[in-house]
Amino acid sequence: MTTDMPASFTQHKFRCMECSLHFVVCSNYAGWPDKGTTRDLNLGEATGLTYCPECGSTGSKLHWIEQTSGFIFQQVPGDAKFHSFGDWPAT
Ligand SMILES: [Zn+2]
Repeated sequence: MTTDMPASFTQHKFRCMECSLHFVVCSNYAGWPDKGTTRDLNLGEATGLTYCPECGSTGSKLHWIEQTSGFIFQQVPGDAKFHSFGDWPAT
């Protein structure tokens, strides 16, 4: 298989300080979601573009960054069992 994507990606691991949900965002960008937003790298907090998928909070979250070997599609979906398409917008 050939691709222009890098053979590594970054896992951004979060814990929402509002509802305690733990979630992971896989990105090809180590600096995601900081693209001129309010993220404070010194505190390890992410705000701005990161919404908690459970409670919708844009507030404080613990944020860990882990560089991972391989391609994102090997992690998501990886070998996971397909669940659903989700909601599609009405046309
Ligand atoms: Zn939350």
